[in-house]
Amino acid sequence: MDAIYIPQLMKAPERTEEIQVKEFLPGLETLTPVRGRIQVQHCGNYLQVSGQAETIITCNCNRCLQNYNHRLVVDISEIIWLDEAVDQEQAFVSEREIAVEDLVETLSPYGYFDPGEWLYEQMCLAIPQRQLCDQNCPGIQPLSDSSNFEQGLDRRWSCLEALRKQLP
Ligand SMILES: [Zn+2]
Repeated sequence: MDAIYIPQLMKAPERTEEIQVKEFLPGLETLTPVRGRIQVQHCGNYLQVSGQAETIITCNCNRCLQNYNHRLVVDISEIIWLDEAVDQEQAFVSEREIAVEDLVETLSPYGYFDPGEWLYEQMCLAIPQRQLCDQNCPGIQPLSDSSNFEQGLDRRWSCLEALRKQLP
């Protein structure tokens, strides 16, 4: 996905660019390509960005620890402010860890908007924190109930017994 040069967007029809997405996003492990679209509109001192996309990811159930497939869907509309002051701040920002709350972005009006990176962030934020294969997942089940366990034990004892008989 190519980055959009923001001044160029001013000249686009209705100052809007629409990007069709059908690809794997670098850094995001998905079973299927991310499909959807992103719309970016230049509104003077801000960009109106909206995106609808979906893909399938593999989750790990917090209760039973089984993997399961999860349909990840984003449908987001967001404002990204354009501020010339960003250029000066940028050097400073790159020197420190970027906290999640800082992701509400401000870009330079003479810079680029990277739709791939934006979508990657939105998809990451949409990954469920609490992963359950099913709302009613009973969790890890004992392999057998106690009577089976005893039978199993008996069977193992009988093996030992058989082995013992073979010994001189
Ligand atoms: Zn489960």
